Amino acid sequence: MDFELKKLGLNGLDEKRPLVIAGPCSAETEEQVMDTARQLAAKGVKIFRAGVWKPRTKPGGFEGHGETALPWLQRVKQELGMLITTEVATPKHVEAALGAGVDLLWVGARTTANPFAMQELADSLKGVDVPVLVKNPVNPDIELWIGALQRIYGAGIKRLGAIHRGFSSVDQKLYRNVPLWHIPIELHRRYPNLPIICDPSHIGGRRDLIAPLCQQAMDMGFEGLIVESHCNPDCAWSDAKQQVTPDVLDFILDRLVIRDNIELTESLSSLRKQIDVMDDQLLDLLTKRMRVSREIAKYKKEHNMGVVQTQRYAEILDKRCAQGSLCGMNPDFVRRIYEFIHEESVRQQMEIINK
Ligand code: PEP
Ligand code: MN
Repeated sequence: MDFELKKLGLNGLDEKRPLVIAGPCSAETEEQVMDTARQLAAKGVKIFRAGVWKPRTKPGGFEGHGETALPWLQRVKQELGMLITTEVATPKHVEAALGAGVDLLWVGARTTANPFAMQELADSLKGVDVPVLVKNPVNPDIELWIGALQRIYGAGIKRLGAIHRGFSSVDQKLYRNVPLWHIPIELHRRYPNLPIICDPSHIGGRRDLIAPLCQQAMDMGFEGLIVESHCNPDCAWSDAKQQVTPDVLDFILDRLVIRDNIELTESLSSLRKQIDVMDDQLLDLLTKRMRVSREIAKYKKEHNMGVVQTQRYAEILDKRCAQGSLCGMNPDFVRRIYEFIHEESVRQQMEIINK
């Protein structure tokens, strides 16, 4: 299914890059909402975000004020002339948000991952003309993301966009949610007219990563940015570590270099960074493999066994060559790599045995 889309139609804001959406993770108090929004408006931000219903990993955290907070967003719209947006996860949220004049809805990562919830949301949007942005699911499954977009599109929503907020991963290091840039790039390859907005706050999870991630998103050709900004980030009730003040946001946006006519592609520097990370992982794994190999040598020494067990070596080679071939690599290349690894492994084992 192809998406036949209209522009998001946010007073022409989606005509220029980047489209900027900013505001706190959560609407905490009327004062916090108004204070943040006033500062953002003064910096020229036109679309204000604030979470009203907050999906929290565990119960007991601040789960948002719900409908109580909607009038605060209405004030932002009325007094400051900003467009307002919030996350919706259920038909009740949709009804309440639309009733309060929310201009743009977004669907959170946890909801996108649940087709039942997505279908209910889609059904509640039938016959409504409102722009909807769908975040990627928490897991790196592009089909699930596309499926969620298709459900919303199927409800008749023609003003549709996607938000890239990174993906959960077991070995989180630098990022809170790993960007896996190839996924939004593949989404763009399949649906070139679907606008994609980057959420550096949830990818980075740290203030110092917001600026480089914004620049990277612009270099890759993303349409816009959704950034968490709070009048007093250290005291935020949710996602405190990743929120920046409106001043800092302005500083970051001011320094962005926007190169026009960029297709959504991975920039060379981002590809190189990915290679560096993978090379680190490769060496790390090889080091661990050698360590295990030395443990085996100790065992062989204690039990008076020879270093090279020919049958085991032949099995490893055959198995890995076949696996490499399934992954699209030349089996001879894989064979050579394993021969070298084996050679070094034998050398290290000999050291132990001859000690
Ligand atoms: C948010 O935008 O505050 C949020 C909860 O995001 P996500 O769904 O990406 O976790
Ligand atoms: Mn958040």
